Amino acid sequence: MKIEKNIAKDTAIPAQYGDSFLVMDYGKGSYIYDISGKRYLDFTAGISVNALGYGNEELVSVMTEQAKKLIHISNLYMTMPALELADELVATGDFSAVNFSNSGTEANEAALKYARLYAKKKKGSDAVRFLCFSSGFHGRTMGSLSVTPKPAYKEKFLPLVPGVVESPYNDVESLEHTLDDSFAAVIVEPVQGEGGLDCLKPEFSEALNRLCKKYDVILIADEVQTGLGRTGYLYASHALGLEPDIITLAKPLAGGLPLGATLIPEKINSLLSVGDHGSTFGGGPVTCSLALKVFRTIREESFLESVREKAKILDSFLCSVKEAYPFVIKCKGMGLLRGIELDDKVPVSSVISKARDKGLLILRSGSNTLRIAPPLTITEAELEEGCSILEAIFSGINA
Ligand code: PLP
Repeated sequence: MKIEKNIAKDTAIPAQYGDSFLVMDYGKGSYIYDISGKRYLDFTAGISVNALGYGNEELVSVMTEQAKKLIHISNLYMTMPALELADELVATGDFSAVNFSNSGTEANEAALKYARLYAKKKKGSDAVRFLCFSSGFHGRTMGSLSVTPKPAYKEKFLPLVPGVVESPYNDVESLEHTLDDSFAAVIVEPVQGEGGLDCLKPEFSEALNRLCKKYDVILIADEVQTGLGRTGYLYASHALGLEPDIITLAKPLAGGLPLGATLIPEKINSLLSVGDHGSTFGGGPVTCSLALKVFRTIREESFLESVREKAKILDSFLCSVKEAYPFVIKCKGMGLLRGIELDDKVPVSSVISKARDKGLLILRSGSNTLRIAPPLTITEAELEEGCSILEAIFSGINA
């Protein structure tokens, strides 16, 4: 491995992540510093994970105190952080239990398994199909990958789980034609985090609610990226009129440590037997104690209100660039999860690298959409600072 200034090359990191890496050292608030000391304003939050920013002393102390007591114990026993977190999460809706895991993809795997278990018991052994939507992303393990339509993610790994059907996102007519009682579950993102930042239309939410009830199909809202305040609401589903049976969570839940959660209703929990599903690490005391702190901070109405207020800065920035630059095709997303879709003549990769040079980290989503997903604790001044860096880049583009 070689380090040149702040770049690592010839590393032992697998090639799926690239061949050279900017090496980060530490973070404070909404800023990250690389190993050469260069500072970056973070519009990525570790891909929608670091909701409370960097260097949060309270998180560090919660983690340290719990680590001194117990780091791991397994699900043969329970700890107070896991029990309290489970109680508080199920109280956010019509849920009776929560399965803890270690990532978003695992949270979805559990949801798909629970839905199959429910459907087979209630509707018979043929009710096993899953419905997913174009441009959706649900993870990279075999089950979640099977319900992720984009060929580039899965073609090399076929065959995957059978029985998956894809339908166009936000297309009520196709949904009406496709869904029936041979399906165990529908899985949907309220805002498509990786697939371009489209949001559920109200009429599509209404159709999903109605048809899933009609055919007794489990409606899974994948809120791995949108959940816990990212859109200005605890759950984007509720803000967009979706009434899911199961909600899956992960990214921001444990303040940067790996924790997934699958919130399930009584009608599923009552059918589960010991050993039906499980995880060695899921719901450990350290991750759950951090998650309790994160969850209690985010669920406060004043915190969610502050996210919605700050999002107004992005609303007006997005409107202004849409008006000013013909290469801006569409502005999308919700709250502090926003997208700027660019004309193919302006590759987002070039904007991302110019932004990095100017000290701003920003993400891609879908084929050519810039994704803005800062820490939820970012200040208004920091948001303005990031928007002016982007404005300066846009104004220098001849397209
Ligand atoms: N679901 C959604 C909506 C996501 O955005 C992601 C990750 O980006 C996942 C699932 C997979 O999460 P993980 O990478 O933690 O497995």
